Amino acid sequence: MALCKAEAITIRLQDFSETSQIAWFYTREFGRLSALAKGSKRQRNNFDGRLDLLCHNEIVFARKSRTTLHVLTECRLLGRFRGLRAGVDRLYAALYAAELVREMTPAEESQPPLFELLLGTLRALSGGDDVAATLLAFEARLLALAGYGPMLDACVACQADALPKGTVAYSSALGGVLCRACRGRDPKAIGVPRSALAALGRMADGEAAEPPPGLVAVLRKLMKATFAHHLNHEPRLMRYV
Ligand SMILES: [Zn+2]
Repeated sequence: MALCKAEAITIRLQDFSETSQIAWFYTREFGRLSALAKGSKRQRNNFDGRLDLLCHNEIVFARKSRTTLHVLTECRLLGRFRGLRAGVDRLYAALYAAELVREMTPAEESQPPLFELLLGTLRALSGGDDVAATLLAFEARLLALAGYGPMLDACVACQADALPKGTVAYSSALGGVLCRACRGRDPKAIGVPRSALAALGRMADGEAAEPPPGLVAVLRKLMKATFAHHLNHEPRLMRYV
């Protein structure tokens, strides 16, 4: 059993007993992991005060080899994202981001860009950035980092790169755009302006991009449908954001 140190964001907390909790973290060094926080609900504990959701911490845990539930030994608070309490929309957006990271990532697979994405998103939401635009950029980048980046420059069904000018059909189920000939492959495909898809592509690549005004809602609808498709269910907080 080795002691490991990690930079971590608390993405879920669950009561384990009257005095202890199970904490799920997304860490820079180990990806997603869970650990038993013995005595965390006691007034005096080893965890720098109360263990809280959506906090930026430095943790130390005893790494078990036979189970994925490790034992938390230290937790030092690095930051709290206080601005998330400025409005319920910001708090729900942050909880939704944490839920998506939890659901879309494999256990204990290090992916530092994904840690940076979650940290940057929580900072932006806490710092007063536009909630919908922040979530859209998060969703597009998360999909790409999780290996589900949508195909936007060629038809996802036949790979033809001759796409209609103006508005193109996007299929959440197939994960990309459809050419005219393949348009009928998905009756639920939604027509989206190419300029909006180009902005979405830049966001998926992790670049700053401003989606055309008025199209954030349409693009978020596509992203939500894409996540629901990949996860086979709608994330719990999706309806609130
Ligand atoms: Zn096609």
